[in-house]
Amino acid sequence: AQPYSLSLNPVLTASGVKGKPVTSLSSEGDGIFGYIQSVIHDKQETESPFMVLDLGVVMDLMDKWRTMLRMVQPFYAVKCNPDPSLLGSLAAMGSSFDCASKSEIEAVLSLGVSPNCIIYANPCKSESHIKYAASVGVNVTTFDSEYEVEKIRKWHPECELLLRIKPPEDGGARCALGRKYGALPEEVPTLLQAANDAGLKVIGVSFHIGSGDADSRAYHGAIAAAKGVFEMASQLGMAKMHVLDIGGGFTSGPGFDAAAMHVNKALESNFGNEEGITVIGEPGRYFAETAFTFATKIIGKRVRGELREYWISDGIYGSFNCIMFDFATVTCRPLVMCGENMVPMCFKDSKTFSSTVFGPTCDSLDTVLRNTQLPELHANDWLVFPNMGAYTTAAGSNFNGFSASAITTYLVYSTPIA
Ligand code: PLP
Repeated sequence: AQPYSLSLNPVLTASGVKGKPVTSLSSEGDGIFGYIQSVIHDKQETESPFMVLDLGVVMDLMDKWRTMLRMVQPFYAVKCNPDPSLLGSLAAMGSSFDCASKSEIEAVLSLGVSPNCIIYANPCKSESHIKYAASVGVNVTTFDSEYEVEKIRKWHPECELLLRIKPPEDGGARCALGRKYGALPEEVPTLLQAANDAGLKVIGVSFHIGSGDADSRAYHGAIAAAKGVFEMASQLGMAKMHVLDIGGGFTSGPGFDAAAMHVNKALESNFGNEEGITVIGEPGRYFAETAFTFATKIIGKRVRGELREYWISDGIYGSFNCIMFDFATVTCRPLVMCGENMVPMCFKDSKTFSSTVFGPTCDSLDTVLRNTQLPELHANDWLVFPNMGAYTTAAGSNFNGFSASAITTYLVYSTPIA
């Protein structure tokens, strides 16, 4: 197989990341925590929660992706976290983008990214969004129904297609996507024929094994199934397919090594003898999750016997919507007021209490943590939540007047310990 060949040249430089403070840090001695202390110190009276995006983490992840999945060009899934600084830095690092709507395409184009570096990876698009994609030259999209073929034929006949298939094995992910998207094996010939009859070019196949803790062995079956579709297209006399889109489903950490190993093996055994295949992926969580740390202030407290209850300045209608929609669990570390300063509190050494942490809205569902052990905390202390970049602020609301979109992101650049 050849390395990817879609047009993928980054058009941004690091200066494309604008308008936010950038601080250079060493991650020795927990640099992010130290940086958060300094932001809180500078903000003094503020109660507003904030995010810290560590560009050093994003750069490391990109290096790792390029090393371990050399054949796979990343198209970052904007839906996971559309923070402009993250998008800008990924573009500067040579990433391309998976957009699912007009607004996501606009956000990526506004950074100066070429439309050739965007895949419109939503199998069911509204007509006005298809017309917009046509007008700005986003010319590759996915489909899994005959209705979609008809819409695309009508509004964007130059658009090239990837057939989204349902992978044969469910990766057991927290967010299974196969219930909603992906052609079944028996639907594939009809869909290929329909696209061909409509005069549309089907250039390849896409799939998604599911997002969040997916079992990466599922890439084997999915890539083999994609190969079957390539062969079927040839049997139907259609032009040779040349794009394989392996979707998302990656996480950073040790799971990534296993996933890369499974993908590489499956590519080798199914496409190893093929010339001119472009392989792309649509990682979201992989790049966003660990790069963001979230800080929220404790705004209230109640003591009920041995139980401690705290209210913080964001909840499940804001960044913590990941608890409901992404089935995520979150963890925190306290930063407490000590005289004039905020200091991290080590709760290994102090007495802890079973604690509940509520969000700020009036809904009792708005509960971030239950039965978690925390030391005695007080109003005006802060809780710091790591790994808060994936499917968090992206889906927050303005419920009760707490605006998830108003959350500031600060940028830092941490260097890994050698
Ligand atoms: N691509 C598509 C089409 C998706 O629907 C999603 C997530 O829902 C992604 C990519 C990103 O998935 P992940 O965050 O697991 O990498």
